Order: sequence, then C-alpha cells, then structure tokens
Amino acid sequence: MLRSWVNSANAADHDFPIQNLPFGVFTPAGEALRGGVAIGDKVLDIAAALAAGRLRGVAAQAAAQPTLNGLMAMGRDASAELRAQLTALLAEGSAPAPELLHDRAAVTMHLPVEVRNFSDFMASRPHCARLGRARNPDNPLPPAFHHLPVAYHSRASSVRASGTDVRRPWGQYAQDNGVVFAPTNAMDFELEMAIWIAEENALGEPTPITRADRRIFGVGLLNDWSVRDVQRYEMPPLGPFLGKSLLTSVSPWVVTMEAMEPFMAPLPPRLPGDPPCPAHLDTARPDALRVTMRAAIQTPRMAAAGIAPHVVTEAPLAEMYWSLAQMIAHHTSNGCNLLPGDLLGSGTVSGAADGQEACLAELLLRGPISLPSGETRRFLEDGDSVIFTARAVAPGATSIGFGECRGTILPAHTR
Ligand code: MN
Repeated sequence: MLRSWVNSANAADHDFPIQNLPFGVFTPAGEALRGGVAIGDKVLDIAAALAAGRLRGVAAQAAAQPTLNGLMAMGRDASAELRAQLTALLAEGSAPAPELLHDRAAVTMHLPVEVRNFSDFMASRPHCARLGRARNPDNPLPPAFHHLPVAYHSRASSVRASGTDVRRPWGQYAQDNGVVFAPTNAMDFELEMAIWIAEENALGEPTPITRADRRIFGVGLLNDWSVRDVQRYEMPPLGPFLGKSLLTSVSPWVVTMEAMEPFMAPLPPRLPGDPPCPAHLDTARPDALRVTMRAAIQTPRMAAAGIAPHVVTEAPLAEMYWSLAQMIAHHTSNGCNLLPGDLLGSGTVSGAADGQEACLAELLLRGPISLPSGETRRFLEDGDSVIFTARAVAPGATSIGFGECRGTILPAHTR
C-alpha cells in the first residue's frame, strides 16, 4: 500500500512503483556515469542523495559508482539495508527532494555491471522438448535434463545494454549444395531472465542449495540472440559457439531479490515418472518467480505505420523446471567460483501452451508468424526490433515491472 512523493510512481501498473526500486547506471545529458534507482518516470541520483545527506553508508557509496559490481560484492544484507533507506527517502510523508531526480526519458542507460562471466542455462521442458523433437521424436529431452540444469559457458565481452543494435552475422551453415559462409538466414531471439550474482564463493567451495538464493542479487531481462543455422551446424559435440557469442542484450534495471520477495512461489511438482531431484539441488523453499515475460516484434513497416510492437510470446517464468537458485547450486557444485556481477541466463522461458513459445524456432513449428501489418515472419529480417517486457504479479502485492530489453537487427556487412 506504500506510496511515493514521486507522483508518477503511484500510477496503477507502473513498472517502477516504490515497491520496486531497481538499481541501474545512467548518464544525465553530458555528465558522468553514475548509479541510480528507477522510481516512476524518474531516476534518483544516488551520488546527489549522498551529497545531500539523504543516504549514507558504504552500500549507498557502492551504488553511486559507474558499475554495480561493488554493491553486488557486498551481498544481500547490504542491499537490503540500502533498500530500506531508499524506501524511507522516497515514501509519501518524507520530505520531497525533486532536485535529486532526473527525468528517466532524458537520461541514457548503460550496462549496469562489468560482466566478467556469462553462463546460459536450458531449464524449460517445453523449450527442450519442442526443439529436441526434430532430432529424436521419441526422446526429445537431453539425458541430463531431469538431473541437472543444463548449461554452457557463453561470452561476457559481447553483453550489451538494451537499445544496442545487433548486426546480422556471417557464419557457416549447411545448405542444399554444401556448407556456405554467408549472412545468416535464421536470426532468432531467446526470451530469458537475467540473473545477477551477489558475493563470491572461493574457488573449490560450492554454494550449497540452502544458501544459493542469497547469491542472487537481482534479476532483469535477457535476450540470448541465437543464429539457428550456424548453431545447428557448429554444435556437435562441444555446444554453442558463434551462434550465440555475437551479442547478448540485457535490460538496464536490476530488480533486487528484496523487491521480488512477494512474487516467490513453490517450484512446480515433478511429473509422474521423473526421477527425484538430486539431494544437493533439492529445496522446499519457494524459489520460483511469478513473472509473466513477453516478447514483441516491430518491423520497419509497422513502425512507419505507427503500429505498436506485436506480442508474439507470453510465457510464465514460474513453470520452469529448475529455479534460479538451483542453477547457482549446480554451477558451483564442482567448486567453480561465481564472482559478483557474473551473469546467468535462465534459459528460454517457454511454457507448454501455444503462444508461450519463447523463441522463433519454437513458434515456427506452428507456421510463420502473422503481424498486424499483413507481413509474415519466419526468422528476423533486417530492421526488425525485438522488445522484451515482463510483470511480476501476485495476489495482494503491488505488481512491478522490469522496463524493457530491446534490440534491432542491422543488415549484414557486405564482403
Ligand atoms: Mn539461451
């Protein structure tokens, strides 16, 4: 029920009410990089709030920096304490301080973290089943699917903030008359949740499932852009490489796990016939997140005609087979060290129903996509934009959003 003296934050269904308070890194026009917090249509300037004496302490100092790695290194207790200060500062009844705010529309958002490692998971049974059926109709899931959250190490250097254009890559793939090196014909998106890691486990020291949730600083939106023809040819036997490393987009606002608390739900039960969850990954904690994730497409013709992005996917994150905490327990179970600000991708969040396919490769199994402009799409064409949004919704809780994760396909280089 809490309201803010920032009026726009009190509008129904706003992404950034006072219950959210996500962290990000921004530049006001012509000024230096700094940390901020989204509140309604505004950004609270943390450095300015420190200078004005409205925030204090080492966590606020870390959150004012040009990356959030320092804040993430401090762990969940520090970010919870800072959140309490921010809530007090921005709540209705507290002295308004409009001089500490910037218009969100007037600032530039940046990658919020210096990403040193990025691993991407595969945790949706419907996603694996739909794409595995072509290879093996009777047994489409990989052998390990029920025993561990399958993942690969992806590329940290090519992670970019929402709004960065994506150049159609060249790559090697099979065609009727052999293998070519050419611009891809199968540019796809993967709708995923970004997981930002808190703290560091020493090399050789696993993070047990009992405290794996404390290693999640926060979450955001992630587009694991995928080049299907290249991926199909290069994958066996070592896994994805150039089909994934071209670029990964993330939303600029990091929604903390403190803000996500009202939206935690029990993991969906395992299906009859599934093996039991291994003990070192098993948890009774409600680790699933009640978040509905959406992917929309806008073609250049739609944009020119003023037609809004068309939602092609609406998928339930809470139905994923493995939770984010289980991914962390698995990732560190061999002693691998996860660093503050490391990035995990949840894996494509596809649900079981039609319309919940969270990438084009799955959507295309039901045929080409029809758009309100009268156009159809198989894979993405040059100039197409893909826009992700999401809402966390739970009974009795003020719903929160994540902003957006957007990217537009540029034509391939000519060679
Ligand atoms: Mn992926």
